[in-house]
Amino acid sequence: MTTVIENCAIATVDAEGTEHADGHIVIDDGRITAVGAGSGPAADTKLDAGGCLATPGLVNCHHHLYQWSTRGLFQQATLFEWLTGSYPIWAHLDGEIERAAARAGLAALLLSGCSTSMDHHYVFPRGAGDLLTVEIEAARDLHIRFHGTRGSMDLGKSSGGLPPDEITEDRDEILQASADAIDRFHDPAFDAMLRIALAPCSPFSVTKELMRETAEYARTRNVRLHTHMAETKDEEEFCLELFGVRPVEYLEQLGWLGDDVWLAHCVHLDEREVLRFGETATGVAHCPSSNARLGAGIAPVAALTAAGAPVGLGVDGAASNEAGELAGELRQALLVARLDGGPQALTAREALALGTIHGARCLGRGDEIGSLEPGKLADIALWPLTDLDHGGIQDPIAALVLGPRPLVKHLLVGGRTVVEDGHLTTADEETIARELAAVSRRIQEVAA
Ligand SMILES: [Zn+2]
Repeated sequence: MTTVIENCAIATVDAEGTEHADGHIVIDDGRITAVGAGSGPAADTKLDAGGCLATPGLVNCHHHLYQWSTRGLFQQATLFEWLTGSYPIWAHLDGEIERAAARAGLAALLLSGCSTSMDHHYVFPRGAGDLLTVEIEAARDLHIRFHGTRGSMDLGKSSGGLPPDEITEDRDEILQASADAIDRFHDPAFDAMLRIALAPCSPFSVTKELMRETAEYARTRNVRLHTHMAETKDEEEFCLELFGVRPVEYLEQLGWLGDDVWLAHCVHLDEREVLRFGETATGVAHCPSSNARLGAGIAPVAALTAAGAPVGLGVDGAASNEAGELAGELRQALLVARLDGGPQALTAREALALGTIHGARCLGRGDEIGSLEPGKLADIALWPLTDLDHGGIQDPIAALVLGPRPLVKHLLVGGRTVVEDGHLTTADEETIARELAAVSRRIQEVAA
């Protein structure tokens, strides 16, 4: 079954930055077989994408889907204040809340052109059930390419950590659950819809032993590693006080820099640390809206990419970024980079590359997704250019990145249409919104 998408502008985001003002894309059996100028060859199905820009589907590199149930709280808090306020609420998570929050978060991602997302899930209250399986089922139902992570916390307040002991787990229990998650779900295949990574939460909620053992175990299973890193000055002070070193040195001592690792935030890096990211090809998930919401600072994105580190984009959990739509982070990344480094700091095309090919590299999938090239998976976003929001901007990539709140017209994942004319084909958006409102009310009432 071949499909041809035609009559659209195309930004391939390949290594040469190839663009077509009017071009076509050929898809066969879920993969791209040709991209070029003008109209395409005969095919079983034709999709007329007149008035649209085609880009690779966006890749979300950092999220906590459960946080869709606790949006809008602790509005003036620092990271540590926000966390200590949120932990007792998150202790009431259960399968129903996880399901509704995950479906809402994934719906927002799909509608904003995101075809691949990870999720960093690290809160497993006792008796809450199998929350990782719940969110994996939500991703399967909505048909988004998904990298679930088995996250963890084992450093509670009584041992000098930040989270209350009730939501931490025992180290052996965590390692067993990590093994089970890989056994049950991890698919290494080229066109995998589901992969697993291991993701202890952060230096202030995880022991040194768990960090080291997780890295060793992940490498025996050939899965990737993820955690939070250098998000705030408070974290830096915490590491200096508890471990005697800055966060990046702490991670390096534990085997946590490398091309199989991507780290969220990385705001507070010095010049030498930026170079270490490049030398080790360690990935960064840049979350500009969340960093702004919590007043955490601005990550040195241009310096990191210049050093050779892949820098993808993340929406982060919706409790610290109520607008969990990934396409908006293209604009946000550009704006914060320029606030820090002037108007040359990041171009619209560089912002698009962060949200696509760089993100794919962070997830270890630079050969499979992240650009529109023959041989890659047909994960394709089609953005409207002629509506009130974007009409009249002659450069289609400027329209996408600089224009307001971009939502896709159509989104394909592995050649399957999951958003059509701006709506999900796999679920009912009103039902998702209603169920989200109900669980949000419940978790916040129970916690109060
Ligand atoms: Zn996060």
